[in-house]
Amino acid sequence: MHKYIVMRAQNYGKGTQARMLQKAIPGLVHISVGDIFRWHMANHTKLAARIHRITSAGNLVDDEIVEEIVKHRLGTHDWNYGFVLDGFPRSRHQAEFFLESFDIDAVIHIVVSDEVVHKRVMSRRLCSGCGLDYNLIYHRPAEDGICDVCGAPLESRIDDTPEALSTRLKEYHEKTEPVLNLFRRKELVLDVDGEKDSEHIHAQICEMLKLSSLAK
Ligand SMILES: [Zn+2]
Repeated sequence: MHKYIVMRAQNYGKGTQARMLQKAIPGLVHISVGDIFRWHMANHTKLAARIHRITSAGNLVDDEIVEEIVKHRLGTHDWNYGFVLDGFPRSRHQAEFFLESFDIDAVIHIVVSDEVVHKRVMSRRLCSGCGLDYNLIYHRPAEDGICDVCGAPLESRIDDTPEALSTRLKEYHEKTEPVLNLFRRKELVLDVDGEKDSEHIHAQICEMLKLSSLAK
């Protein structure tokens, strides 16, 4: 059984590497904290109502809720061949709990410099009509500023300002460094160059994990 964790700044890449890894290892279950949240929101669950109460009061969803949903998700035990966890742990406390509960094989740390994260995030655009994501670096619309699918104008996300991103990155480093240091002491961390394209990143991960790559 394989048990992996993927860590990446700003959750950049939307779980692409975790999904590619899932395809490379038959039966591996991809557990994405972001996907679980989106599922609850789409299905108007009790948890969604709770999150809505927190965010509409102007507060951030805290680590405890995240911990709760991850514990619940892992508790379903539908991962006989293992899992790749994406978006967790977020604090040293959660990392300690995790190490006590599970034998982790590796922590895949996708390394992207803050400068590159800035460039990529600032070039994100969102369709105001259908919500499709674009990126002016590698997923440009055919016509500038117009959605390929529905023709509505593209917009920047409200929270994608340089100031807001700097704050998010600072918080990310403050919270993540202790988690990474803990995993590093257990010799679990594999640092992967995240500034390459996704095929290259996947090939690096497969080589480090001694798996045969999808790209071959
Ligand atoms: Zn659109």
